[in-house]
Order: sequence, then C-alpha cells, then structure tokens
Amino acid sequence: MAMACRACGREIPEGSTYCNFCGAAQALGFRKLFRSSTERQLLGVCGGFAEYWELDPTVIRVAYAVLTFLTGVLPGVLLYFVLALIMPKR
Ligand SMILES: [Zn+2]
Repeated sequence: MAMACRACGREIPEGSTYCNFCGAAQALGFRKLFRSSTERQLLGVCGGFAEYWELDPTVIRVAYAVLTFLTGVLPGVLLYFVLALIMPKR
C-alpha cells in the first residue's frame, strides 16, 4: 500500500508520518509540535502552533494575547516560556 505525500506528491508507504523524500509531515494527528523557526516574533511558540494546526500565525498570536489578558497576563506569559522550554526547535 502506498499514499501520496501531501507536500511533494511522491508515493510513500501507507501510514507514514513523514515523507521519505521531502520530510513533510503527513497526518495532522501524528505531527510533532515544534517551535517555528520561520514564523517567530519571540520564541516561535505561536508560530509552532500555527504550523501544527495549519492556521495563520497572526490568528494564534491574537488569540494567545487575548487569552493572556483575560487570565490576568502572568499565567499566559509563564505558559509561553514553559511551552518554549518543552517544545523542541525544528
Ligand atoms: Zn514529500
């Protein structure tokens, strides 16, 4: 059994998490959460979530900022740095 890579379209074994050719992640559920190296304003945490969920990084940043202010700022700021520590850099 084979499937086509989501990024380059080449045939890779069914159920592959990453493409053997271009390295693109295949299934959303199996994807690993990385800090983004391309979409980063601070430490790449929001950009990483944006890449993980395939959303606009700006949407994530605005949502995160709103949540941070709604929860009294400090928890959101602390969470950001905890996430930055535990999320591997791509
Ligand atoms: Zn590929």
